[in-house]
Amino acid sequence: TRFPGDASGDLRPRQTPGVLYSKAIPTPVKQVSLLAWSEELASELGIKKPETQQEIDLLGGNFVAETMQPYAACYAGHQFGNWAGQLGDGRAITLGEWVALNQKTFELQLKGAGPTPYSRRADGRAVLRSSVREYLMSEAMHYLGVPTTRALSLVSTGEGIWRDMFYNGNPQQEPGAVVMRVSESFLRFGNFEMLAARKEQENLRNLADWTISRYFQHLTGEDKVLAWFKEVVERTATLMAEWLRVGFVHGVMNTDNMSVLGLTIDYGPFSFLDDYDPHFTPNTTDLPGRRYAFGQQAAIAYWNLGCLASALAPLFTGTEELVASLEKYGDIFLEKYYAMMGNKLGLDEVKPEDSNLIAQFEETLSEIKPDMTIFYQLLIDLPLDLADEKTAAAHFQESFYNELNSTESEKLFTLVKAYSERIKQNAISQEEKTQKMRQANPRFILRNYLLHQAIEALESGDNALFVKLQAAIKEPYSLKHDEFFAKRPDWASRKAGCSM
Ligand code: AMP
Ligand code: MG
Ligand code: MG
Repeated sequence: TRFPGDASGDLRPRQTPGVLYSKAIPTPVKQVSLLAWSEELASELGIKKPETQQEIDLLGGNFVAETMQPYAACYAGHQFGNWAGQLGDGRAITLGEWVALNQKTFELQLKGAGPTPYSRRADGRAVLRSSVREYLMSEAMHYLGVPTTRALSLVSTGEGIWRDMFYNGNPQQEPGAVVMRVSESFLRFGNFEMLAARKEQENLRNLADWTISRYFQHLTGEDKVLAWFKEVVERTATLMAEWLRVGFVHGVMNTDNMSVLGLTIDYGPFSFLDDYDPHFTPNTTDLPGRRYAFGQQAAIAYWNLGCLASALAPLFTGTEELVASLEKYGDIFLEKYYAMMGNKLGLDEVKPEDSNLIAQFEETLSEIKPDMTIFYQLLIDLPLDLADEKTAAAHFQESFYNELNSTESEKLFTLVKAYSERIKQNAISQEEKTQKMRQANPRFILRNYLLHQAIEALESGDNALFVKLQAAIKEPYSLKHDEFFAKRPDWASRKAGCSM
């Protein structure tokens, strides 16, 4: 299918009815310098490390190869629960598609390469701070085993960008950067919402058919749009369970930031949890509502899938099956959630009565608020015969941000007893149980304060921590990076992430 696009190359911000994308040439910057390169991803793609300045220029938008036809995609979305109309790639430009060694195709996309028709009032640029965050975090998620878009390169632009800094409130210049993002597709729920809102039925049909034939080739036949929607529901449920497993908060789960491939996409003010708090959000613009808080994410995914279902509804004669498929989300998510928790806890299998134990973990952790990552690491080595509240608390001491009061100690001991009883009934060996838990519980997470420190150092020309983190993200389940196995320090009281 050839989709309607706008090939004018006009970069002025505007509405673009009738088209799915607009031609958008990157705007050159002062000086492109390579800061980071993802070796493993590059070799999967079959791309060699850039050496010449022209090759490096390509990663910052200063050079566009003749075979490339750069474009920005048009999409819409619901932001914080409200219809926001047309949005689109305001600071992302897809250079083209690359065929990897495994024959799969991947979109190569520059983030921060200048304005597009969808930039609205913003500049189309990205600061080093947010670019380092996306570069490291999307790769970290990949190595954790969480579905995600990826990042091939990070370059600086040699230019400053005006930003209203969230910590001092005064506009000031920050160094600019560009990330090359890689994904089979960056299609979002919002691409479909846009066409539905404009009542462009034929475009909607074509885009759905194309998406299926391109990325869901196993789905064929009359009901393939329904089958596809079911798969998006399933993948999204998987993604939510995975975020809960590793303690990831996305921060901006607007429907324009929801991938139809079920990937983590558009890294903004994300954060891992340090202390276990379901109400935590790293997004300061989401206070006090906390719509996108850690513990809300699974429910919000359902709401977002509802928006996608509404957008696809015009392709159906009756919508009963579509609605029924949407309504299965809750059960599908719960099934995945229990399976995930079973692995985290090292259970041989999840029996119906285990849901009580799992709920008890949720409740107790929410109350005590230990460091999530450290708590689960300590759980792996829990002796099953702890005698009293004191020994139980002592075992988890390293994970506490506050001394436990007597109610909390009691709760913890009650949980430890219930858990120990359950583990004694396990039909798998202690070794197998440990193995399971080691695979489900990360030991290294890319904590917000580490990112913050690495970025500050980078801005003053010191890349030592950045390089260390780049290595650590590749082995999140190993004990090799234990210099980072520590709670968030006091000085780094939980700050918001940064989205711009
Ligand atoms: P987000 O919630 O960060 O994914 O962004 C919402 C919309 O704002 C998207 O359409 C982005 O492309 C756009 N946007 C965010 N930052 C910028 C920027 N600096 N310049 C242009 N557009 C932007
Ligand atoms: Mg976005
Ligand atoms: Mg963004």
